[in-house]
Amino acid sequence: MTEFGDPTTAPFWAAAERRELLIQRCTDCGAHQFYPRPFCLSCNGQSLEWVQAAGTGSVHARTTVHLQVLPDMEPPYVVALVELDEGPRLVTNLVEPAPGIGDRVAVSWRERAGAPPLPVFAAIEDPV
Ligand code: ZN
Repeated sequence: MTEFGDPTTAPFWAAAERRELLIQRCTDCGAHQFYPRPFCLSCNGQSLEWVQAAGTGSVHARTTVHLQVLPDMEPPYVVALVELDEGPRLVTNLVEPAPGIGDRVAVSWRERAGAPPLPVFAAIEDPV
């Protein structure tokens, strides 16, 4: 497998090949962040480690795309901002039937030709 991404994002994509969602954690202040950066957004420290996210979160915002803007994405589809339980928010797609704002979601993976799978999110039942 050839390496995907740049030095900052390569560990994320390598984990995506294993269907593992990695986010960065600052070893100085403990903040989690996504997308990957070479420094901590909270304290500007450069001591970051990769940790596996639980893969669960909730829908912070969502919108339905009705116009075709990407050749391999047939509309309509849902673009969402998902807030992970660790705190970071990521721009992603929701799997149909797409959950609403505030709904609990879990990571799933969309396979792609010639590239690592992309993390997308699907609705999960609330724990009782
Ligand atoms: Zn920090």
